[in-house]
Amino acid sequence: MLSQNWMERADKVVMQTYGRQPLVLVKGEGCRVWDDAGKEYLDFLAGLAVCNLGHAHPEVAAAAAAQMRQLVHTSNIYYTTPMVELAEELVRHSFADRVFFANSGAEVNEGAIKLCRKYARERYGPGRHNIISMRNSFHGRTLGALSATGQDKFWQGFEPLLPGFIFVPFNDLAALEKATEVGACAVLLEPIQGEGGVCLPDPGFLAGVRQICDKKGLLLVVDEVQTGLGRTGRLFAHEHYGVKPDVMTLAKALANGLPMGALLATEQVAQAFVPGTHASTFGAGPVIATAAKTAFGILSNPDFLAAVREKGDYLGQKAAVLAKKLPVVKEVRGLGLIWGLELTQEGGAVVNACRERGLLINCTQGNILRFLPPLVVSQEEIDRGLEILAASLGAVFP
Ligand SMILES: *Cc1c(COP(=O)(O)O)cnc(C)c1O
Repeated sequence: MLSQNWMERADKVVMQTYGRQPLVLVKGEGCRVWDDAGKEYLDFLAGLAVCNLGHAHPEVAAAAAAQMRQLVHTSNIYYTTPMVELAEELVRHSFADRVFFANSGAEVNEGAIKLCRKYARERYGPGRHNIISMRNSFHGRTLGALSATGQDKFWQGFEPLLPGFIFVPFNDLAALEKATEVGACAVLLEPIQGEGGVCLPDPGFLAGVRQICDKKGLLLVVDEVQTGLGRTGRLFAHEHYGVKPDVMTLAKALANGLPMGALLATEQVAQAFVPGTHASTFGAGPVIATAAKTAFGILSNPDFLAAVREKGDYLGQKAAVLAKKLPVVKEVRGLGLIWGLELTQEGGAVVNACRERGLLINCTQGNILRFLPPLVVSQEEIDRGLEILAASLGAVFP
């Protein structure tokens, strides 16, 4: 079989860092992808919250292709125009005044760690370098971002990690306040924990974190790598909770499939970075920045975001109805178009059953099915996806 052949070849020469699903994808359009045998799938994962505008978005593709023929790379030794326009748009639509561009989520979280340390060092002198992070969080796989990630299963074999991180339970303001007592410069959190299993903040939690940060002189850093750029039905998830961070990281959906990360900060905090303190060779190259600028123009449209909220409510309500009928579903939770279905049992077999029936989802933390459809998903596609899910759950847990 052709497909088997690609997988065998990959497994011989590619490092075995992923438990890949047995699927070779060759084409995508909107919310659908096709494998090398021509079978069609409804994609409710969107490349892990990356293709928010769907696969092969025509406007993004055309803009990036045109830029590809004009100017691809210059390094950040020079000014380029798409980068300026993108930064202006990000600043115009957020709390932030300045942006630093890199190429991935982990990389901009590294930048955030450096920025917070440098800012605190200049403001308070040495000794306030600790970053308070959440248990069950996910911030990336590079050493700094990994050290900030509150799941020790990801640390195994890589110790010693970077010192200077303190972990507290998500939604525990008392533990957070206590952790501020020893040399902290910042609190780092995902407004909704994605990889951790679509864990939502309790009402008042983020506002409480903001208050503690203000009282203790700490920076609030939100990692919106997964939740940002329309995923929750607002441009940025923290907007739902009425808080303003000092620093924010974005990546995944920023260029709708091309690799890009952005570190955003207020003027005061951004001043800690001066020439020579941080850099990226590829950051905001003209092609990526053009793709991102085009995607952002669509994602930031209030009507587009309102439609995401509407479709998200629809998906959530339908999933809740389904869950009521199935004892294996413990809880359904989410916001906008990020949803988790917590099962009372392991969910890997459900992912496989869905795939066999033409629906792509994934399972995180062993028992939480995660749905991250492209934000352009239609009501009919949501209906179809949930039909396949119901059939698959029924087949695996009869
Ligand atoms: C995916 C993710 C990251 C890591 O992004 P990469 O681009 O894979 O480095 C960081 N933080 C959050 C919240 C994520 O979901």
